[in-house]
Amino acid sequence: HADRAMYEAKQRGRNNFQFFTQALTDGAFERLVMENVLRGAVGRGELVLHYQPQIALASGRLMGFEALVRWNHPELGLVPPGRFIPLAEEIGIIGDIGAWVLRAACRQLADWDAQGFAVPRMGVNLSVKQIDDAGLTELVASALREAGLGEHRLELEVTESMLMGVPETNRAALNAIKSLGVELAVDDFGTGYSNLAYLKLLPLDRLKIDQSFVRDIGRDGNDEAIVRAIIALARSLGLETVAEGVEEAHQAEFLLREGCNLAQGYLYSRPLPAEALSFPMCFRRD
Ligand code: C2E
Ligand code: MG
Ligand code: MG
Ligand code: MG
Repeated sequence: HADRAMYEAKQRGRNNFQFFTQALTDGAFERLVMENVLRGAVGRGELVLHYQPQIALASGRLMGFEALVRWNHPELGLVPPGRFIPLAEEIGIIGDIGAWVLRAACRQLADWDAQGFAVPRMGVNLSVKQIDDAGLTELVASALREAGLGEHRLELEVTESMLMGVPETNRAALNAIKSLGVELAVDDFGTGYSNLAYLKLLPLDRLKIDQSFVRDIGRDGNDEAIVRAIIALARSLGLETVAEGVEEAHQAEFLLREGCNLAQGYLYSRPLPAEALSFPMCFRRD
């Protein structure tokens, strides 16, 4: 199947290539192949989720996982989301991918329940195109229902740019999702063009401090000041904070000292397929 799709894509690409000899660069050819093959990826069952734990800094306890999608292509190997999500958004198939991710992540959480592993929460990344989609609330509701999950187990991650100048319709969608008992986190916080007005308009639960501010903790006083300010802002708004990209123990110590609630990063675990995770997870170092 995959081979056939790749073959067809290549054929199509080749014909086009002859036609646009001058215009079509190698990059464009690759892209055309990618695009055509990506269109069938969900149907061929080539998408996989990896899960990265989120840890409560104070107790070391596992508080949840973030689901991160990968495209497992027979020839290309494991393609990271940065290399196909933007393309999927552009060619209008992010809805299918997003729906698959949401269902698969909810199913996984239910599977862990059935196996007796108490995982409190699952975080799923949303694309801006999904927020614009009128069917999002129904999709989320059906994913929860199909997996038989109770309330407050699912968290959706949105980025600041998706919330900037939120149109009334998007705000209504987020409120509807929230009323299903789903939690909302702002991903990569601090990297968007920050009009902070959305923070008071939307029913948010946590801010994820972008890894670019976490990376140089201990080396860059400005980054430390930004991290402190984000934690203070979150606390005064009644939101939790999650530090992304925690790789070193001294970063975790700084974050704990400053009152950050949760951490996620290679220090604890890389994102892993479910079968590679071992429970129970314990991250206490003492
Ligand atoms: P993100 O949501 O901010 O996810 C965090 C990224 O940082 C992940 O990259 C993760 O593997 C990586 N990471 C985690 N810990 C560390 C660390 O300690 N150090 C470093 N250097 N990196 C770390 P990944 O999996 O390649 O995902 C990249 C982005 O792709 C995500 O950023 C998210 O925006 C997007 N993405 C992933 N899965 C999905 C999805 O299902 N739907 C949508 N729409 N976007 C997704
Ligand atoms: Mg995320
Ligand atoms: Mg992030
Ligand atoms: Mg990011």
